[in-house]
Amino acid sequence: MGYNDWFEKHSEKHKKIVAKLVEKNYSKEQIIEYFDFDNMVKMEYDFCPLYAKNKKCHDMESLNCYLCACPNFRFNEDGLGVYNEFKILSKCNIHNGTEFASKGVIHQDCSSCTVPHHKAFVEKNFDLDWKKIMKSCQV
Ligand code: SF4
Repeated sequence: MGYNDWFEKHSEKHKKIVAKLVEKNYSKEQIIEYFDFDNMVKMEYDFCPLYAKNKKCHDMESLNCYLCACPNFRFNEDGLGVYNEFKILSKCNIHNGTEFASKGVIHQDCSSCTVPHHKAFVEKNFDLDWKKIMKSCQV
């Protein structure tokens, strides 16, 4: 699945869950708590493919899934630029994580970064509309 497809599909899943919680009059704090991995893995089986394996994307005791992917992520399937003849498809706006190159393209690798999964970061960047938070991701 390409970045664009993933982004749209994830946005729809996020929107449905948030709408359900708003309907139940959940507060901002309760919504953020609901998106804690330990709850999501039980309640929202389809939200992330890793839930089927009860596996976290990062080794953190408390991992929040509200801001998967990350507002600092930047992508463009047509390319964000070129480096050593490799087309750059994604990058981190704050230069965290690493990159990996494969088949003529470079992707951002966020596996070493936990920034968007901390509850404090979610609280600071919170909006009910996931796409609004991620508005700068699609370049
Ligand atoms: S490296 Fe970290 S801050 Fe940068 S896009 Fe990835 S998860 Fe976000």
